[in-house]
Amino acid sequence: MASDHDAEDILKPLVFRLHENVPKAVREVLLERGWSEFDEQEQDEADWNLYWQNSPFRMTDHRSIKPWQRLNHYPETARITRKDYLARHLKRMKGIYGPSLYEFSPVAFIMPNDYVKFMAEYTKERQALGRKPSYWICKPVALSRGRGILIFQDIKDFVYDCMVIVQKYISNPLLISGYKWDLRLYVCVTSFCPLTIYTYEEGLVRFATEKYDLGSLDNVYAHLTNTSINKFGASYKKNKEGIGRGCKWTFSKFRSYLRSHEVDDLLLWRRINNIVMLTLLAVTPSVPLTSNCFELFGFDILIDDKFKPWLLEVNYSPALHLDCSIDTTVKKRLLHDIIELLNYKQTDTLRENKGASTKSSYAGRTHIRLTTQNENATDDSPDFLASKQSLLDVARGSFKKGAIAMGKMSRTQPRKTLTSQLRERMNKPKPSSQSKAASKSKQLPGARHSPHASVQVTHWLPTTESFNYKLTIPPYFVSAKDKRPFPRIGDFVLIFPFNDAALEASRNGIDIKSIIHEIHKLMSKQLP
Ligand code: ADP
Repeated sequence: MASDHDAEDILKPLVFRLHENVPKAVREVLLERGWSEFDEQEQDEADWNLYWQNSPFRMTDHRSIKPWQRLNHYPETARITRKDYLARHLKRMKGIYGPSLYEFSPVAFIMPNDYVKFMAEYTKERQALGRKPSYWICKPVALSRGRGILIFQDIKDFVYDCMVIVQKYISNPLLISGYKWDLRLYVCVTSFCPLTIYTYEEGLVRFATEKYDLGSLDNVYAHLTNTSINKFGASYKKNKEGIGRGCKWTFSKFRSYLRSHEVDDLLLWRRINNIVMLTLLAVTPSVPLTSNCFELFGFDILIDDKFKPWLLEVNYSPALHLDCSIDTTVKKRLLHDIIELLNYKQTDTLRENKGASTKSSYAGRTHIRLTTQNENATDDSPDFLASKQSLLDVARGSFKKGAIAMGKMSRTQPRKTLTSQLRERMNKPKPSSQSKAASKSKQLPGARHSPHASVQVTHWLPTTESFNYKLTIPPYFVSAKDKRPFPRIGDFVLIFPFNDAALEASRNGIDIKSIIHEIHKLMSKQLP
């Protein structure tokens, strides 16, 4: 009987639950990895490991989360994904921490509330002698995919009939072969407390499909880079000089393009990572304390002709449908890497309250040191971004030769799904009961990092007294080895915390002031 039970345990696949509008690619990737889909008729309410939907979950869903489960949203993250909320948050941060840090987002006015302020700015500019008046872009706050957008220079062309944001139009974008483009950067937050941010090294460059021309402000194919618009343009399928067909490149192609033009892109990626951190800091204190969630954001970044990156907006549930082969390459791999980031372990397949401690005390405040997987950070290197092989080098891809290259190497082999590994295991001799027990806590097939353990989680969670909702689940996003977030998983690169002080300041609640201070220091080291 005992052996039957064990075989049953081992054969249980991980289970996903999808809301109806979730793109097909999510299901495809999970099935490829040997997962099975939740069946409401057949399975118990809690008999799943991942629930994915495009909209937020209810607080009751968060509160009833089990140790083996993950939700693909944190509560309250829409605070930065609606255009007006984002503008407000960034304006507030700029007011508190100064324009030198928060000058990456174009000046914005929320209409109708800011109408008087906007008119004052518009008039002031018009009256300033010798200055060319700005261009403005008007975007409905609650719409996406380029819908309802209007670009204007003269106030007589400005009309709106719903709540909109009017933003300074970045009229000097860096063009490639005369075409405007922007970057869709994927960012995954595996925890808001302590704050843990990964940026994805691969991503999409999204092109407009007609040449940029300030003389035709109403030509959406020249001024907007949304795929949802450009795929209907007359030039979409044409082989455009210097760009090719369609309207997308991968970041890899973009990096090669920059290097072939002798552009050192390191500084650019550093500045982009700083934008991501500073933006997420604006919302972090408002995210309620919840366990076992993650949030994938799509950051839209425009680069101007002085190589300055601008944040245009942050997308909630960024599009994951596959429009073209470039989407397939980037997004399927992204989804695989997200699942890796979720650090499932063998016990999670059981979907029972065993094997994981759910009643730990999380009040500890032990000081811990940040290390990379090959331990190249030491106590005497308080800022591991400083020299040697920094995480920002990793972010840029130049640290692939050492230990981190292991992640890459494993990618060249077919990914082992749970099913394939189980098949392999079934062909092996039966393990002893002792090694079986040990294997229960081993990492899942295909995972390239070790699982978290239920002990020592005390280092990673805030004191419970300060929150109404008490966390009872150990964090899933740290390594068993050093109780720190993995510096790299697949193409996800940890950008926050970036040193011990940043870690310390986000561990017991969030000390924004100290973190900003660290970012300031980091920037003054990074930037010329
Ligand atoms: P949506 O949510 O509708 O996609 P975005 O803010 O992403 O709205 O804007 C859509 C597109 O418009 C962007 O991808 C970019 O090409 C262009 N755009 C938006 N804001 C600006 C701006 N301030 N300056 C220049 N171009 C912009």
